[in-house]
Amino acid sequence: MASTFSKELALKPILMNDFQSQWNIVRENVLAAVERVGQSGWLILGNEVNQFEKQLAEYCGVKYTIGCASGLDALEISLRCLGLKPGEKVLTTPLSAFATTLAIIRAGGTPVFVDVDENGLIDLPLCRKILQEMPELRFFMPVHLYGHAISLEKLSELKEEFNLRIIEDCAQAIGAQSANKYVGQVGDVAATSFYPTKNLGCMGDGGAILTQNETIYNHAKSLRDYGQTAKYEHAYLGLNSRLDELQAAILNSALLPKIKEFTSQRKMIADRYLTNIKNDLIKIPQPPHNSDSIWHLFPVLIKQNREEFQHYLKSLHIQTSIHYPKIIPEQAALKEGSGKFVTATELKQAQYFADHEVSLPIHPYLSDDEVERVVIACNAWRN
Ligand SMILES: *Cc1c(COP(=O)(O)O)cnc(C)c1O
Repeated sequence: MASTFSKELALKPILMNDFQSQWNIVRENVLAAVERVGQSGWLILGNEVNQFEKQLAEYCGVKYTIGCASGLDALEISLRCLGLKPGEKVLTTPLSAFATTLAIIRAGGTPVFVDVDENGLIDLPLCRKILQEMPELRFFMPVHLYGHAISLEKLSELKEEFNLRIIEDCAQAIGAQSANKYVGQVGDVAATSFYPTKNLGCMGDGGAILTQNETIYNHAKSLRDYGQTAKYEHAYLGLNSRLDELQAAILNSALLPKIKEFTSQRKMIADRYLTNIKNDLIKIPQPPHNSDSIWHLFPVLIKQNREEFQHYLKSLHIQTSIHYPKIIPEQAALKEGSGKFVTATELKQAQYFADHEVSLPIHPYLSDDEVERVVIACNAWRN
């Protein structure tokens, strides 16, 4: 079986992210955006950021968005807007980008880790149990990991029942829906990132805060700009975390107009993987119930010999990566005993993902043949 495809198909590398292909698609609109900003003579917090914030709010189904410098800052600003006090606990997942936890610590909070479910997203029934056991918990920062929407209905119920302040980390799932609600609509506030690998990335760093609440909107706008409420009036000790006019212009003209097309491409590829990858040694975690996922990543679980699987795909010129090779509380920066975090449950499932997960390429510029190559390679592994 392997010999029929290995030589003729395994030529062009299949990348996890293909920014050169993206450039060919967006080039003209990016150059026009740069020209527009240059001509305008206005480089920070102007028309482009305003326009982008309005369009992003419309896309996300929220009232307000606030552009800022990164996803990390968007999360930190969100927590500060909700009045997190030093040492206060924030329920969160051990399986995410490190930035999720880092934002909690930077905002002065203490992360409380609860395990993920068998599909890698924070286990909401387990969260409920912990919320009952730890009545002091007021803050919850769930992550819509891999482009999936965790159940917004269940999130809403938890919010009610425990009077929680919720910050949705939407960096991997902007535009995803759960039972016809968009991620970011249930939390008091939500955050996203325009890091280039994200579904809606820019050409550098950027992020945004999403909210339905006008008070939070004004507070976040102030915090991103030194805590200014008017020129040279500082009501808060804020950050310098502004989204550049250039990045906003590029998002406005080149990337946001493409997001629907790119997303449907990702969904189509995910459908093909879900239907056609058939190998008992490869388990495909399922999206949460009711999730209309945007497939930021396509995770699979390799029961045994993960490293060998990755080497095998690499020999066929198929790149893969791991999300994430270490659970967050195992990171050196959070070493046990430092009192920086609380582990509320065993983290067995999260550890299982750290030990067995592999992400397959799913960027929107993959050709049909390339998707086919990945499917054939997966199906032929050890068969
Ligand atoms: C990328 C990411 C972040 C951080 O975003 P940056 O813009 O890189 O700071 C936070 N949370 C999640 C889940 C992410 O994937």
